[in-house]
Amino acid sequence: MTDVIVLGGGLAGCATALDLARAGMAVTLVEAGVPGGQASSANAGSLHAQIPHDPFRHKGADWARAWRPAVSLLIESIGLWRTLEADLAADLEIGFGGGLLVATSDAEMAEIAAKAQIERDAGLAVELLGRDTIRARAPYLAETAIGGAFAPIEGKANPLLVVPALLRAARAAGVAVASGVGEARITATGTGYRVVAGDRHWQARRIVIAAGAATGALAAQLGTPLAIDAVPIQVSVTEPAAPLVPHLLYCAGQKLTLKQARNGSLLIGGGWDARLDEGGRPQVDAANLAANLRVAMAMVPAIAGLNIVRSWAAHVNGTDDWLPIIGPLPGHPDALVCFVPWVGFTGSPAAARLVADMLLGRPPAFDLPMAAFAPNAAGSPS
Ligand SMILES: Cc1cc2nc3c(=O)[nH]c(=O)nc-3n(C[C@H](O)[C@H](O)[C@H](O)COP(=O)(O)OP(=O)(O)OC[C@H]3O[C@@H](n4cnc5c(N)ncnc54)[C@H](O)[C@@H]3O)c2cc1C
Repeated sequence: MTDVIVLGGGLAGCATALDLARAGMAVTLVEAGVPGGQASSANAGSLHAQIPHDPFRHKGADWARAWRPAVSLLIESIGLWRTLEADLAADLEIGFGGGLLVATSDAEMAEIAAKAQIERDAGLAVELLGRDTIRARAPYLAETAIGGAFAPIEGKANPLLVVPALLRAARAAGVAVASGVGEARITATGTGYRVVAGDRHWQARRIVIAAGAATGALAAQLGTPLAIDAVPIQVSVTEPAAPLVPHLLYCAGQKLTLKQARNGSLLIGGGWDARLDEGGRPQVDAANLAANLRVAMAMVPAIAGLNIVRSWAAHVNGTDDWLPIIGPLPGHPDALVCFVPWVGFTGSPAAARLVADMLLGRPPAFDLPMAAFAPNAAGSPS
């Protein structure tokens, strides 16, 4: 008999299952396909804490202020990332070189300064840099860089290593893993929840929905259709190069994230749209790939001679307000959602810890304004 069913074997689901099993619960993790087979392995490996600049520009300061609880969650989650390798006894290629957001105009610098003030209100240390300082700290940048903001706690990890390490630890802690079962469906039984996938089924008093982009559809099966999208985006990686970029780099005027992995490869992304093929599968969009690379080369001219060895596309779990959704579904105190949109690689460890605390009746590990994340909060309509 299982105490809790966790639906979804990405980072959010594996981390939740591990936390619950370590606290003594009997946990069954139900994964439609391969654990970590979706966004949690296909992502760019950035550990973010800054308010993302692109939505800040488009949605404005009021949106950014409403997003402060998410910044606080990301700060706590990065705290967990700092001890994750020791906790899992695994090398996850984690590094904390800090995040650098670069301005190429006075107008962009003014936007960065306004955003930094909101980030500081949420408890994030952000340093504003002028032209000389940014040139001294990041000599790899183009002459066009006139300043920026530096968030020391930001960093990177290798997404290909993280879910496998979590899953090993979860299995060692006693989690029963049912993978490759196909898409599961949930029904409330009155005393708990029944999950059915193909000819297999499981029953438990409690359930966690941690199914990434599919979380909204599963929550709808319990009466709360959360407004969650699956948005196709793409990332590229270069051949290995000598050490060049120690930071997680962003650009204020265009969408860009750029970082150098342990093996020297540069990962280039920033949320550029991919396209869908006739079967609805994400495919790399060539025009957006070229545009993304142009932005990267304009920012870091030394990468222009490197070959791109791979580009890929995957669905990211998105919401319009960008806020995490964490907690029980309306009318279902024992059915909890564990969901962090857009930056869920960074934020899922903290979301998982909070969900485990709620299920176990423990005080929350972090003091956060949880009402902002409630499944019936504005932006995730019930
Ligand atoms: C290209 C790309 C780049 C990104 N870059 C970054 C980044 O640099 N930093 C960052 O913080 N975030 C990044 N993200 C976002 C991040 O990867 C995701 O937010 C995060 O991985 C979500 O984790 P998850 O466990 O909630 O979802 P997923 O990893 O998508 O896992 C959900 C799992 O649920 C399973 N599932 C779905 N439906 C069912 C069902 N009905 N029954 C059973 N199982 C089901 C799926 O098969 C899947 O394995 C990026 C995403 C993409 C796509």
